Amino acid sequence: KESNSRENNVAKIKVVVRKRPLNKKELSRKEDDVVSVCDNSLTVHEPKLKVDLTAYVERHEFCFDAVLDQQVTNDEVYRETVQPIIPIIFQRTKATCFAYGQTGSGKTYTMQPLPLRAAEDLVRLLHHPTYRNQKFKLWLSYFEIYGGKLYDLLSDRKSAPFFYNQKLCMREDGRQQVCIVGLQEFEVLDVQIVKEYIERGNSARSTGSTGANEESSRSHAILQLVIKKHNEVKDTRRHNSSNNDGNEKGGKVVGKISFIDLAGSERGADTTDNDRQTRIEGAEINKSLLALKECIRALDNDQLHIPFRGSKLTEVLRDSFVGNSRTVMISCISPNAGSCEHTLNTLRYADRVK
Ligand code: ADP
Ligand code: MG
Repeated sequence: KESNSRENNVAKIKVVVRKRPLNKKELSRKEDDVVSVCDNSLTVHEPKLKVDLTAYVERHEFCFDAVLDQQVTNDEVYRETVQPIIPIIFQRTKATCFAYGQTGSGKTYTMQPLPLRAAEDLVRLLHHPTYRNQKFKLWLSYFEIYGGKLYDLLSDRKSAPFFYNQKLCMREDGRQQVCIVGLQEFEVLDVQIVKEYIERGNSARSTGSTGANEESSRSHAILQLVIKKHNEVKDTRRHNSSNNDGNEKGGKVVGKISFIDLAGSERGADTTDNDRQTRIEGAEINKSLLALKECIRALDNDQLHIPFRGSKLTEVLRDSFVGNSRTVMISCISPNAGSCEHTLNTLRYADRVK
């Protein structure tokens, strides 16, 4: 199995944990930091009470492919997780990079800069003598899954009464590529534009009446960078006639990398909330996080059957779970004592995926 999962010297599945520092609020409350990191392992010191109310600490130790301590920068996170995969995107690899964790644990902080750095490296390779004459182009799209439905985060229909009439459908084309009908793709000619797209998409992420962070924690945001090979003559003809290759902009997918800022893992437990809508969304999040875990485990065991049908999230990513795929799971954890239970849940999830 070891040899199977290490083609091109890049592990097929990599699970890393990132611990963020205590924030101002936690420091002002004099909360304890209950997570200690040592090399690739970490220990959670869980404060507990016995029946007779004497306090004690229960220690939980975990080991991962890498554990990134609180002083580790986003650049180092990039080098540890995504950078090794970039060259093999040009060799028909489909990669996914997930940020998992409770709301406030640093998922967005971690994910935000990664596509930008990846685009820099991908564009550099596009111009490399090896690929310069191959008619490769880099495309970007950004969408979210909210309540089991897909929405384009870069839709430019400003005239729409409100953003959510933009539901998108998914289908599979003849080449077993997942295709999201109507999803806009933008060619990345210079890297600066990627930053603008990320910012535009982030400001479009679900914001309901209860406030931005609250709502964005209930959606999965997916940014995809796709390398396509363009054979101009043929593609123009196809584009004019039936457009049946499922790609608005033509071209054949060479490889892609998806960056997924998952919904807050604690949201999956919202199934007993008083609000019906919240319960439905909670159930959907719970379903998708479970399905994701099952798919990654099936991948790791080299199973032929990958259970993508379990949720919209895994269905959308199905072409990234077959063939030459790479998966990076970045589990984000908060260090404060008050988050201990969520932190342990996150680590157990990551442990299962590993
Ligand atoms: P999430 O997306 O998981 O809800 P955020 O990424 O929004 O969490 O992070 C919550 C807060 O913590 C933000 O203010 C963010 O800037 C800060 N933060 C997260 N991770 C780190 C880190 N590694 N170093 C410093 N600040 C961080
Ligand atoms: Mg977030």
